[in-house]
Amino acid sequence: MPLILIVEDEVRLAQLERDYFIQANFEVEVIHNGRQAQQWLQENKPDLIVLDLMLPSVDGITLCREVRAKSSVPIIMTTAKVEEIDRLIGLELGADDYLCKPFSLRELVARTKVILRRTQVQTLDRPEQAGLLVSQQNTQVSYNGKNTELTLVELNLLNTLMARSGQILSRDQLIDRIYDDRRVVSDRTIDSHIKKLRKKLNELDPDHDYIYSVYGAGYRFEDK
Ligand code: CA
Repeated sequence: MPLILIVEDEVRLAQLERDYFIQANFEVEVIHNGRQAQQWLQENKPDLIVLDLMLPSVDGITLCREVRAKSSVPIIMTTAKVEEIDRLIGLELGADDYLCKPFSLRELVARTKVILRRTQVQTLDRPEQAGLLVSQQNTQVSYNGKNTELTLVELNLLNTLMARSGQILSRDQLIDRIYDDRRVVSDRTIDSHIKKLRKKLNELDPDHDYIYSVYGAGYRFEDK
């Protein structure tokens, strides 16, 4: 059973979230403050984190950054203010999804399942191209025995571009293929993820640019 970490200081909401996940056959750990979540994460590896923005001791933004610096575990951030979502996206925290309170618990579980399905089952038509080996299991890409960890969004971007190697994909096309719901995704967000992805690929293989940006049009993956 996938393990979900819920970090939420509203005790009643946390309980409701837990009950809903348990009903949907998930294992759940509930933590009510940021510092305890930091400690717990040192020894545990959840399959997904539901992270509240405003938390006592260590807030959700700090926690999200810390987690992202070390792992690509999917994160769904929750916040009480819809205006906060734009700001969070602007901060490029690397969260995989955002929900505004009050949200439906059914929606939370549904989005969790979509994200986990992408992480676990995603397959490529041609898993090996250009010498890059993309692992769908643990969101890693490797080249010549070197590995680098990708976030889920970066993995999805790379898969999408590689599957249409040589073709230009516009930012809109990328957004459509990567997010179910594009309400909170801007072109700038895609550019920022692409920038990070390119940097990671360049560290793996400095001799080749895999992703070209085509001015005014979008991005193109090029085989080596
Ligand atoms: Ca809170």
